[in-house]
Amino acid sequence: MRSDAPWGTIRWNVRTSWVPSPALIIVRLDHKIQPFFPSVGQCHPGCLRAPALLNRTEWCYQSQVTCESHCKGPEKWQEVGSNCGSSNQSPVNIVTKRTLPDERLAPFRFTHYQTNFNGNIKNNGHSVQVNLDHGPLIGNGGLEATYRAVQFHLHWGADGGPGSEHTVDGERYPMELHIVHIKEKHGTLEAALQDPTGVAVLGFFYEESASSNKKYDPVVNALKNIARAGSSAVVNHISLASLILPDGNMTSYYRYKGSLTTPGCAESVVWTVFERAIPLSKAQLGAFSKLNFSDGTAMVNTFRPVQPLNGRPVYRSGSRALAAGVALLAASLSAFVGLSRPN
Ligand SMILES: [Zn+2]
Repeated sequence: MRSDAPWGTIRWNVRTSWVPSPALIIVRLDHKIQPFFPSVGQCHPGCLRAPALLNRTEWCYQSQVTCESHCKGPEKWQEVGSNCGSSNQSPVNIVTKRTLPDERLAPFRFTHYQTNFNGNIKNNGHSVQVNLDHGPLIGNGGLEATYRAVQFHLHWGADGGPGSEHTVDGERYPMELHIVHIKEKHGTLEAALQDPTGVAVLGFFYEESASSNKKYDPVVNALKNIARAGSSAVVNHISLASLILPDGNMTSYYRYKGSLTTPGCAESVVWTVFERAIPLSKAQLGAFSKLNFSDGTAMVNTFRPVQPLNGRPVYRSGSRALAAGVALLAASLSAFVGLSRPN
């Protein structure tokens, strides 16, 4: 029959191309396996070399570095992204008495921060992230342009313990929110990262409160559904305004030029770190530690160690509250020095 002829031809070709040379088969397997394993995230059951291949190419937090997993912890991030070893990196420790007042650091103008949206919250293997596509904008705040919010994510400790990325006078808060904005003229984050001031990140600290923060219930409840890396869930009816501080508590903030705090560590970020903290209960803070990293271990201590300022100035907004706090600290210090003098 006519239809038998091509099948017969194919069978003959397969048989003759696979049987003759074992060497040919090995070459073909190597060619396929080498680029395959580093990208899949899991070891093939029969392959002993796969975990090492996988981990050598991945960055991770210090909490993931063990004898078994040889992923690249923060000290080796420059091997993953060359910018990570540069001199204007983030996060930093903010020494309040060395901050410089800057009256240009006026209150921010927020647009669409009040708008409710249904977000998709994702465990991306390093953090939880919500991408934003409803166009929230920030302006003023000493920024040279209007910036559009593209995503937010968080950094935390273990079970509500210290976990913020920035520290203030050496104090580490339990968690830190980063709302990532790009200059409006840039279409994508990738394009904005090519501009030295292309990205503006708003950083908010959290503090432990006795009662739970009801505004965070939709986010905290969704965490149960995204314990596994790569999974995502819908968060209904939230707004950025509901997740941050009341307007009146956002006039006191710090400003400096830095970088993304994960590889590739691009030095394109205008940082704003607010002085006031968002309250969450111990249980709400601890809920983030129930998530898992890509390697299946508990997602805890997801912060990069603080980086040297290397002479970079850190400015503070000219608000009365911050200035008063710094003045009070200076007064207490001088009183302490006065009392400590021998005579
Ligand atoms: Zn971040």
